[in-house]
Amino acid sequence: MHNHTLTELSALLRSRQISSVELTEHFLRRSEKYNANLNCYITLTADMALAQARSADAALRQGGAGPLTGIPIAHKDIFCTDGIRTSCGSRMLDNFIAPYDATVVARLQQAGMVLLGKTNMDEYAMGSSNENSYYGPVRNPWDQQRVPGGSSGGSAAAVAARLTPIATGTDTGGSIRQPAAMCGITGLKPTYGRVSRYGMIAFASSLDQGGPLARTAADAAMLLTAVAGFDPRDSTSADQAGEDYSAALTRDISGLRIGIPKQYFDANLAAEIKEIITTAVRQLERAGARVSEISLPNTHLSVPVYYVIAPAECSSNLARYDGVRFGYRCDQPQDLADLYCRSRSEGFGREVKRRIMTGTYVLSAGYYDAYYLKAQRLRRLIRDDFHTAFSNVDVIIGPTSPTTAFRLGEKVDDPISMYLNDIYTVSINLAGLPAISIPVGFVNGLPVGMQITGNYFSESRLLNVAHQYQQMTDWHKRMPAGFN
Ligand code: GLN
Repeated sequence: MHNHTLTELSALLRSRQISSVELTEHFLRRSEKYNANLNCYITLTADMALAQARSADAALRQGGAGPLTGIPIAHKDIFCTDGIRTSCGSRMLDNFIAPYDATVVARLQQAGMVLLGKTNMDEYAMGSSNENSYYGPVRNPWDQQRVPGGSSGGSAAAVAARLTPIATGTDTGGSIRQPAAMCGITGLKPTYGRVSRYGMIAFASSLDQGGPLARTAADAAMLLTAVAGFDPRDSTSADQAGEDYSAALTRDISGLRIGIPKQYFDANLAAEIKEIITTAVRQLERAGARVSEISLPNTHLSVPVYYVIAPAECSSNLARYDGVRFGYRCDQPQDLADLYCRSRSEGFGREVKRRIMTGTYVLSAGYYDAYYLKAQRLRRLIRDDFHTAFSNVDVIIGPTSPTTAFRLGEKVDDPISMYLNDIYTVSINLAGLPAISIPVGFVNGLPVGMQITGNYFSESRLLNVAHQYQQMTDWHKRMPAGFN
């Protein structure tokens, strides 16, 4: 039952061959069983899930159900869920029960989906390995000594191990695509503003974007169709209707113009990964795509620019956690300054503090121009590189990550090497573009992801290309051993 895609599950539910309660019980059993090793859930919501499954079954019986009705899902613990703990992977919010649903959560609930639980993540979505969680690291189902990627590592591991048919994630600098790549699944980061950020706990507001972590592009399309579209409660939500993202999946890709950025294939990229990406591109070429080399000359600036802008925005966003209104409060504060200081030093973890300090520094008088303003100017140049490229090509293809999943502990003490892991993903967020990562092969038993980037609001196109690739290959069907 756990190997079916969303489309298959939808058909089985509608023809009453399975019930949502059966399906939900099955995934809850698997989640409980394997979570002990993988640690991909922070909270399982079994009772609520079964109640939702029963109402989904009633809707299915009455014939008023949509395509997602009765299908289980897990949400990254960054999305507020009414009445359920929403921790954001932090001690700061360990006791926080959200008083309302994020728009993403509300829309999927309206679509009849069943919430299995909240997935583990790097604290406040800061990280590339899921080792920064207050709840401990997540393990990669392909090799439990290795990281699943981050920050949506819990969602990625849960989908890869078939503990849920699909999950949500958020991507500020790669946190949907990089864990998708490292866990061998499909992850889509939509155009900035395409999916509402209302109720999605803020990390860096000009970069954050929610999206699906799925097994296939077709599944991701179904989910995006349900969540995309204008939301009056998010002032940066794009004032543009969503689309039926499943409609264009089967479109022929002949004539598709693919650009290969020469800067993505330099010495930083492992040779085996390079070869796998080249083979995958050739496959698309055989299906009629035309390939040309392009240049994104400011690629090397994207990591430094991102690690100025994201911390700057985070230091401002995280100022709200003061121990007064909600979240962690230290014991017996002496006075107000002590309350702020100890609540924050005890409530936040090391990486979050590092970012707050960096962010406060680059925004401070005297350094603002040298760092923050400079970074904003470079951000524009990075965006312009893509703008120029998209006048000649439809999509840009490269690796999602320079390496496959690394060992737990391997990079925790070396933030620079951890940050460099984001080299191919962060520029997409700086430019606000959509990109998808799909599995395209393995190196020593570890999955490799390929990133397909498109122009603004070209999600349909990206899903179409990814789907066509998945029709020709079966990498996305591979399953990690031990989770049958
Ligand atoms: N790895 C990046 C960071 O640590 C991106 C995180 C994200 O996309 N949320 O900031």
